[in-house]
Amino acid sequence: MAEPSTSDMNLLGSTREELEQLALECGQARFHGRQLYRAIYSRRVERFDDLTELNKSFRAGLSGEYRVAYPQVDREFVSRDGAVRYLLRLEDGKSIEAVYMPEEGRTTLCVSSQVGCAVDCKFCFTALLGLMRNLTPGEIVGQVLAIVKAQRIPPRARLNVVFMGMGEPLLNLPAVMKAVGILADPNGVGLPVRRITISTAGVVPRIPDLAQEPVRPKLAVSLNASTDEQRNALMPLNRKYPLRQLLAACRAYPLRPREHLTFEYVMLDGVNDSDADSARVADLLRGLRSKVNLIPYNSGPELSYGPSPLKRVVAFQEVLMNRGISAYIRISRGQDVHAACGQLSLAPA
Ligand code: SAH
Repeated sequence: MAEPSTSDMNLLGSTREELEQLALECGQARFHGRQLYRAIYSRRVERFDDLTELNKSFRAGLSGEYRVAYPQVDREFVSRDGAVRYLLRLEDGKSIEAVYMPEEGRTTLCVSSQVGCAVDCKFCFTALLGLMRNLTPGEIVGQVLAIVKAQRIPPRARLNVVFMGMGEPLLNLPAVMKAVGILADPNGVGLPVRRITISTAGVVPRIPDLAQEPVRPKLAVSLNASTDEQRNALMPLNRKYPLRQLLAACRAYPLRPREHLTFEYVMLDGVNDSDADSARVADLLRGLRSKVNLIPYNSGPELSYGPSPLKRVVAFQEVLMNRGISAYIRISRGQDVHAACGQLSLAPA
C-alpha cells in the first residue's frame, strides 16, 4: 500500500500483508486485515457493507476511501462450443480480453497479462495492437474474479488459469507473480498452483527468475518453429534469444516431480508444418521432460497466414510420437467468436 490515503483506492490486488498493514493504519488489529483479505478473495465480497465479520469502525474507515472493483464486463461473445470471450473494461477505460472455457469436469480461464503486446509475433492478432501498458496485479486477479462471478463458478470447481491471453507474462513478471500469489493462496482465491500456467514467447533471462519463485506456476513455451531462420521470421524475439539459448534455459529449469514443460506449436500452413520441421522439433526437445501442444492456427483477414490442414497436423504429430515426444492436438475453442488462441485483438466477433 504505497499511498493509503489516496481516495477511493481499489483494494483488488493487495496482498495479505498489505491489507494487514492497512488494518493497522486504520487503528485495527492486524487480524482484521487478514479477514478483509479472505473476504475479498475467498468469499469474493465486493461491498464493505457485506463484510459483517469486520467491526463497524473498520468498515466505516474503509468506505469512502477504498473500494473493491473488478474489471467491468463490457461485452461477452458466446461461442457455439460453450466458450465465452469477455471484453473487460479497466478503470482507465482501456480494454482487455479473457476467455472462459468450460470442459467436462473442469473449467479453464485464459487471462491477459498486458494491454496489447510488444513481442510482435507475425501471426498473432494481439501484436497488431502494440503494447499499451502492463496490467496491475489487481487487474489480473480481477479477470478471474469477474468471470467467476459472471459464470457463477462455484468455489470448489476445478479451475485452471492460463496466461495465454493478451500480452507476454514474462515481460510483466512482478505483477503476474503477485497475482499468482493471491490466486494460489488457500486463504486467497484458492486455486492450486499446479493449475496455473504461464506461457512465454521465450523471454530467456526471465525463465531462471521464474524458477526462483517460491510459489511457481507451470511453464509453457511457444516454440512455433524448428529453425532459427524460421523462428526469426515468425517471432522477432528469437533474434534476441535464439533457439539454442531458449532450450538451454528450458533444460536448466528445475522441474518438480511429475512436472513437465509444455511447448506450444502453432501450425501454419506451408510455413512450419513439414515432416522435416517435426523431426527437427523432436531433436530440439530430446531429453527434455516435455509435451508438445499442436495448435491449429486461427486465421483472420488482417494476417496472411493460414491453418495447416488437419491431415498435416496429424502427420506432424505422428513424426513427433515416433521419435518419443508426447504431442497433443489442441482443438481451439471459441473460434466462431474470435476467442481462440491468438485471436484476442478487441475486434468485434
Ligand atoms: N505471449 C505469450 C502468451 C500469449 S500467446 C506466448 O507467446 O506464449 C498464447 C499462445 O497463442 C502462444 O502459443 C501463441 O503462439 C499462440 N497464438 C498466437 N496467435 C495465434 C493464432 N492466431 N492462432 C493460434 N495460436 C496463436
